[in-house]
Amino acid sequence: MQKHDASHLHYDFRLEMEGLLKSWAVPKGPSLNPADKRLAMMVEDHPFDYRTFEGIIPEGNYGAGTVIVWDEGTYEPLENASVNKKENEKNLLKQLHAGSVKIVMHGKKLKGEFALVKTHYGGAENSWLLIKHKDEYATEEDVTEKDKSVVSKKTIAQVEKTSDKIWKSNREQKSKAKSENSKTVTAKSSNTKTATKKKTNQHSKTLAKK
Ligand code: MN
Repeated sequence: MQKHDASHLHYDFRLEMEGLLKSWAVPKGPSLNPADKRLAMMVEDHPFDYRTFEGIIPEGNYGAGTVIVWDEGTYEPLENASVNKKENEKNLLKQLHAGSVKIVMHGKKLKGEFALVKTHYGGAENSWLLIKHKDEYATEEDVTEKDKSVVSKKTIAQVEKTSDKIWKSNREQKSKAKSENSKTVTAKSSNTKTATKKKTNQHSKTLAKK
């Protein structure tokens, strides 16, 4: 789970499935209190490597702001857990498609049983709820008060001030594609230049004649 200070502070909950990170933005962050149901908006899958990103997303990029790795660890399905990773993944994907994912987390902050349940809150197709199950790790203490990165031990504010890790997003690659398009445009304009040159030459010729 990453903590992300973008236009609105939120947490990004990510679960590895199919080599990608299934992702949910959790505005209030997770809770270890089973009485809390935390809204989790499903967003697009993220590349697997993104899970360890901590640093600055520059202005002008999607999610511009500061990111820390707030928690990390492994997880497995609560029911029918297997030692076979592929079996677990099949199980988890089935749950994901059914809109109810029950897992056991082995994070540094988030531990024990959790449920992610698809809801139709506000009529939104992508809204889920992240809920802690009652178990030995359930507590009324606010886990988000543990505000430091599990990697650097820095808070968002400290990373914002000190980090030299700058995220380069996929969207930048898309804009690279755009600049290739602009190359085509540039090529065209060099044609125009040639045309202008020809004209100029013609002009000079005319001038020369005169
Ligand atoms: Mn985010």
